[in-house]
Order: sequence, then C-alpha cells, then structure tokens
Amino acid sequence: MSEKKAFVIDVARCSGCYNCQLACKDEYCDNNWMPYAKPQPDVGQFWLRVDPHECGTIPKVRMHYIPRLCNHCDDASCMVAAPDAVYRREDGLVIIDPEKATGNRALVDSCPYGVIYWNEELNLPQKCTGCAHLLDNGNGVPRCVEACPTDAFKFGTETELKELIAEAEVLQPLQPKSDHSPRVYYLNIPKGFIAGTVYDPVDREVVIGAVCLLTCGGDEWTVITDDYGDFWFENLQQERQYDLKIESTGFITKSFTALSPVKDINLGDVPLDRKA
Ligand code: SF4
Ligand code: SF4
Ligand code: SF4
Repeated sequence: MSEKKAFVIDVARCSGCYNCQLACKDEYCDNNWMPYAKPQPDVGQFWLRVDPHECGTIPKVRMHYIPRLCNHCDDASCMVAAPDAVYRREDGLVIIDPEKATGNRALVDSCPYGVIYWNEELNLPQKCTGCAHLLDNGNGVPRCVEACPTDAFKFGTETELKELIAEAEVLQPLQPKSDHSPRVYYLNIPKGFIAGTVYDPVDREVVIGAVCLLTCGGDEWTVITDDYGDFWFENLQQERQYDLKIESTGFITKSFTALSPVKDINLGDVPLDRKA
C-alpha cells in the first residue's frame, strides 16, 4: 500500500504570481483525463484558486496570498455525501468519478471548503484530482507544484514532508468547528499585526529609536522605531488583547490598552509629547 501524499504551501514564499492557478487551468481545460477528470470549463471556476489577502490600512499594509484547492481530507464530507461516486486512492487523493457523479449537483454543497465546482455543460461536479493522471504516468509532482517558481508549493509523502507538517496549520472550513483532517498544509499564514509611526508634533519629525513594549498576560515583546519612526508587531494572536507603551528619552510615555488585532491595527501617526 502506497503512503499517503500531502501538499505543503509556504505562504511566506508565495509571491502571488498565479502560476499555479494558470498551470491547473492549462492542464485541465480542453483536456480529458479520464478516468479522473473530464475537461474543466474555460471560465467560471478554478480548481486551484489563489486568494489575495490585503491586511491593515494605508500606509501600514501587508499582502499575502493563499492558494486553495481540494484538501484531499482524511475525513472527506464529499465521500460521505456520495459514497458511490467519490473515492480515495491508495495515495490518499480523493477523486470524484466523472461517470458516477454526473448529475449530482448536491455534491458541490457537500464540501465544507467550497472547492467543488459545477460544470453546467457536462452536468458534472468537478474539483482538483491531485493530478492523479500525471502521478500515474511517473510525474513526481502535480502541475501546480511544478509551476511554482518560489518553491512555495510542495508535494510528497507525509513522511517526506513530516518536518514541515509539524510546523504547519490547515485552513478552517467554511462551516466552523468541523474537522475534516485536511491534507493540504500551510506554513507562515500571517496573523494579526499592530503598527504605527511615532512622531514629535513640535519638531514635526518622526521619533527614531523609541522603545515600543507590547504586553499580553505575562508575555512581552519589544521593538524600536526605525529610521521612519515606524514600528510593527507581527504574527499576533487575534483572539488576545494587548497593551502597548511607547517610550523615548525626553518624551511623555504613551500608552494604549486592550488592543485587539482581530483586524490588523494601524495606529497611524502617534504623537509623543515632550516632557516639560
Ligand atoms: S476539501 Fe472538500 S472536496 Fe476535497 S476531500 Fe475535502 S470535502 Fe472532499
Ligand atoms: S494538483 Fe492538479 S488538479 Fe489539483 S490544483 Fe494542482 S494542478 Fe490542479
Ligand atoms: S506558483 Fe507559487 S508563488 Fe506563484 S501563486 Fe502559486 S504558490 Fe504562490
């Protein structure tokens, strides 16, 4: 029995070039890869979709990209919904049988990650096959992985990827609090941030080297404002609340309490008043 395969996507390495998304279209549009897939429509669906995420507000903005595809879940709702039409290969890839699934529109809604699409012309639910036809022909990796220029996209056995998987997380399904044991893993998904720019309103200059101390419970983090007076605290847990103190010699300490980075917080221009 072959070992199960998994994907690992390093969000920090993803430049948002969309090569993987295009490669998937190129592989499946106008191509018939039976018994795994009939052609994907030219428009209206992406079995792999790169979602852009813009965080913060101008000028404290960060962009990241999340490629989304079928998770080839160990506990796959689509298999439960249509046990005769959806099956798992020995390598763990979950396949919608195009013959047996024809006409089963309800299958689209069975996926808690929203990655099954309806092909109107073929009357067929469709999704990522893991490029099973390529793997069967000796390709080591699927098209999307092969197309990635930054090595952000990895594919292999769970043993090969063991160390990365240990550090990784999975995406939450659209219906919260359900666990489907996905086997597409993500590294470095950015969390919340708190940022701002410290300035002296009298001199109308930024304050370089101010000490910014962030605390939460017993934890604390310190950053120093840079040559532009900027500070960033990144990868904060969005469900926690943070207190912030900004200190610089000759200035009155500025404090913020109960900052909650559920949405990223740009404190904007933060004036530090001079001591008398
Ligand atoms: S992500 Fe959706 S379509 Fe893919 S295996 Fe899981 S439940 Fe099925
Ligand atoms: S594994 Fe193949 S089918 Fe799945 S997203 Fe990548 S290119 Fe598309
Ligand atoms: S090909 Fe690689 S870098 Fe480009 S969008 Fe896809 S995962 Fe990101």
